[in-house]
Amino acid sequence: MNSKLSIHGFLPEEIEAFCKEQGQPAFRAKQIFDWLYVKCVTSAEEMQNLPAPFRAQLSDHFTFHCLEKIEIQGRKGETQKLLCKLCDNEMIETVIIPAPRRKKNTICISGQVGCRFGCAFCASGQKGLLRNLTAGEIVDQVMEAAQELGGRPDNVVFMGIGEPFDNYDEVMKAVRILNHPDGLKIGARRITLSTCGVVPGIERLAEEGLQVELSVSLHAPDEETRSKIMPVNKIWSMGELLEACRTYTKKTKRIITFEYTLIKDVNDSVEQAHQLARRLEKFLCRVNLIPLSPVEEFDGERPDSDTMRVFAQVLERAGINTTLRDSKGSALKAACGQLRAHRLR
Ligand code: SF4
Repeated sequence: MNSKLSIHGFLPEEIEAFCKEQGQPAFRAKQIFDWLYVKCVTSAEEMQNLPAPFRAQLSDHFTFHCLEKIEIQGRKGETQKLLCKLCDNEMIETVIIPAPRRKKNTICISGQVGCRFGCAFCASGQKGLLRNLTAGEIVDQVMEAAQELGGRPDNVVFMGIGEPFDNYDEVMKAVRILNHPDGLKIGARRITLSTCGVVPGIERLAEEGLQVELSVSLHAPDEETRSKIMPVNKIWSMGELLEACRTYTKKTKRIITFEYTLIKDVNDSVEQAHQLARRLEKFLCRVNLIPLSPVEEFDGERPDSDTMRVFAQVLERAGINTTLRDSKGSALKAACGQLRAHRLR
């Protein structure tokens, strides 16, 4: 196992402190950050404006690659899933979602190895949480995907394996690195944190003063249905969750996206649509309806298109901004962890 730390897990001020420790001037940190995120080099040897002995010190202290791609599913230019091995042989998934017409690429990244929350329709939580990813491992996923894309991604969504707010500090550090003006400069509004409903995480995020997007997986209009498919509801009820979301929108003035996976005969009736509309009344939000993606671990089905259309209409008529689409990103979220689960089997 490689015991060196990933250089992608350090903010410029931390790299600056390292430079000073090594007797180097502070401006070296900016040079290093530039090599890493603008020129996207993958070794210290390539950092030609640094003195050779210092390049050797960097190589001794840091790893420039903490992920190894072991499988790529899908073709270039289309949605691709990367299965990557970490230095302790654990595996995570990263997804590249191109939108050629809009000329925008989205990278869906993981924040943990496994997940403790065990949502019924998700492969990632089936074997529980193994460990948190470091900020370096999180940023490295974006760098690996950027290499595949041949350029910087436009959007980053934390919708891969794991619950971002269950690894809050490392995830937020990765957000700051990705967003840094001297680095990849991925705008905060182009970074989405997606939570299954970890209330303390929403409360902390409200205090960060960051313009990131927040997406909350609701998937049910009432406590009972939600508890059946999302065990997290037994820790933080839907009532508490919506209260935290209201406080968040009041404080940040930012819209929340509620994700709602439609599952046949579980949460797709007209009555449930009305119930959801009532709960989200006067809420600064949009609702993203996603038909269930089939996963081996869950025997639910997606509703037929008429049922989904009626569900969406009920919300729209109640004045709720609603989208119904087989969004690749969201579908992949439902299917997230599949590639890893197959490998583990
Ligand atoms: S959907 Fe997200 S929170 Fe739920 S089990 Fe999967 S990774 Fe965890």
